[in-house]
Amino acid sequence: MARKMQVCRNCKRFTNEKVCPFCKSTNLSTSWKGMVLILDPNSEIAKVLKVNEAGKYALYVG
Ligand SMILES: [Zn+2]
Repeated sequence: MARKMQVCRNCKRFTNEKVCPFCKSTNLSTSWKGMVLILDPNSEIAKVLKVNEAGKYALYVG
């Protein structure tokens, strides 16, 4: 079984590192729900998630 991936509470991106490689935050969580792939940073879902870069994001981070 693969270890559950961590999600950065700051930018909601996935990482397996101890530090978020995107925003350098160490505020990571394994209690997240939903995974969404943002292909278009100008899409409605990107606005809802407040992201401005394409990538994989968690919908909810506990
Ligand atoms: Zn981050």
